[in-house]
Order: sequence, then C-alpha cells, then structure tokens
Amino acid sequence: MPTLIGNLIRGLPRIEEGDSLAPMIESCTDLQDGDVLCVASTIVAKSEGRFRNLDLYRPSEKAAAIAERLGKDPRFVQAVLDESEEVLITDPFLLVATRFGHICVNAGIDQSNVGRGEILLLPEDPERSAERLRSDLSTDCAVIITDTCGRPFRCGVAGLAIGWAGIAALRDWRGEVDLFGKALEITLESIVDEIAGIANMMMGEGGDGTPAVVLRGLSYPRSGGRIFMPVEKDVIRRQLR
Ligand code: GDP
Ligand code: MN
Ligand code: MN
Repeated sequence: MPTLIGNLIRGLPRIEEGDSLAPMIESCTDLQDGDVLCVASTIVAKSEGRFRNLDLYRPSEKAAAIAERLGKDPRFVQAVLDESEEVLITDPFLLVATRFGHICVNAGIDQSNVGRGEILLLPEDPERSAERLRSDLSTDCAVIITDTCGRPFRCGVAGLAIGWAGIAALRDWRGEVDLFGKALEITLESIVDEIAGIANMMMGEGGDGTPAVVLRGLSYPRSGGRIFMPVEKDVIRRQLR
C-alpha cells in the first residue's frame, strides 16, 4: 500500500443554505482520482438548509414528559422525535433510530457550531447527499459524510460514517485465509467507519473551522454493503424494545 496522506482542508467559509460544497472544496484543495473526501455532516446539513428555529416546534405531551425527566427543552425533544423512526431509550438520554437507519443520541441534532436558538438536523438522506457531492466533483473520489457519535460499550465519542458514495461501506473478507491458511472468522469490516474515525479526529469538534479532510493512498473496494444493521438482525435493538 502506498503512503497514506491526510490533508485537512482549510479556508472553507461558514456554510449557508444553498452553498455548493463541491466547488467550494475544490477551490481549497487539489483532489485526485482515488482520494477519499471526508466531510462533516454539519456542513452538508447546513448546505441543505437543515437549520431549524426551536420556536417552530410545538411539543406533544410525550415530548414534554421526556423533556421534564431529562431536564431538556421540550421543543428540542420534539425535534428529536420528529426525526426519529423509533425511540429506543428515553432515560437518561434519548437514543433513537433516524429515518435513514442510523441509531444515535438525539437523532444527531446539533446545537454547537450553529447560531443561538437554532438547531441543525442531520441531512435527511446522507447517502443521497454523499452521492450528490461525489457527482458534483470533477475527480473520481470517494465521499464519506461523518458525524461525531457516542458508542455503546465504549467511553468517548468517535467519528462514524453516516453516508458514503464511491466506496464500499464494508470490506468483505469472506473466502480469505489467515497466516496459517485457515478460513478467516472476520467477514465484514466497516471500512467507512474506520476512515471516518481518523477524519473526524483531524477535523476537531470546536471552532477550528475544518470540516473536510482528504485521504490519499488508501486502497478500497468501490461498492457494496450497508452500515445500518437490518432491524430483524439487530439483537441489541430487540433487547431494548
Ligand atoms: P459534526 O461532527 O458533523 O457534528 O461537526 P462538528 O460540529 O463537530 O464540526 C466539525 C468541524 O467542522 C469543526 O472543525 C468545526 O469547526 C467545523 N465546522 C462546522 N461548521 C462549519 C462551517 O460552517 N464552516 C467551516 N469552515 N467549518 C465548520
Ligand atoms: Mn454532529
Ligand atoms: Mn464533530
């Protein structure tokens, strides 16, 4: 494998609704075929106008009850419920499945890096967003949309992939053998999450203003797999019901 180079893209402005990310990114960095462009979900959501004013939300009784228990703004809880397909945990935090299948706290709604009284929803369909961004680029790059997420069983947050295009979500090791010629027990490897982790670490979580990273030198399969566990196979989700 060639040397891996990671480039943090600097110079992007504050992203507004309607901004076209591909040319903005291409004016800040030179992309090459085969690069993996990782973009924070925050700026994708901003470009798609996913800002909401909290005053828009009329909390239901359910939202009010959850909010009271959690000590949260009932309008924020209503926004989370609106973005959710299923609520898995309501106490001591709101763990939900979003409509596009990602399970996360607060439906991934952010209150940091946005204006006062505003919230930022996740992109409605991050896989479609990734495909659009990829097709707007003038090079043949893979695109991964990242978000900072908590993980069950592990302390600390990490970057995960919530949308991708031009790269397989999963690398399939079935049929491969180990050093001793024995069939591998590992079957599917979540390569988009592995890449999202390093990109998210480079971006930072605060006011750095660096929402995109280019990784050069990775070899990766181009298509296949889904990250979000099908509901019927998800034993943990079943236990939470
Ligand atoms: P998330 O992980 O997708 O929720 O995004 P974060 O809020 O953690 O931000 C990731 C990085 O993007 C940080 O370096 C932020 O400062 C940066 N960022 C967020 N919004 C903008 C923006 O509108 N413009 C620029 N240039 N950077 C931003
Ligand atoms: Mn986020
Ligand atoms: Mn983040």
